Amino acid sequence: MPKHPSKRPVSDERQRACSRKRRYRSQGDALDAALLAGVERQRVAYRCPLCGHWHLSSV
Ligand SMILES: [Zn+2]
Repeated sequence: MPKHPSKRPVSDERQRACSRKRRYRSQGDALDAALLAGVERQRVAYRCPLCGHWHLSSV
């Protein structure tokens, strides 16, 4: 029986990312937060399919 220890479901990664990321109510909120932190050029906002909120991700 073959093992694939490094192969994990994408949804698992998303779940992890979702739970440790800050959630924003809207794209504007997320981008505002990036702007305030001075990292707006290194971040993109995306809508999370898991929680329905917005997260910031590194570019
Ligand atoms: Zn999420």
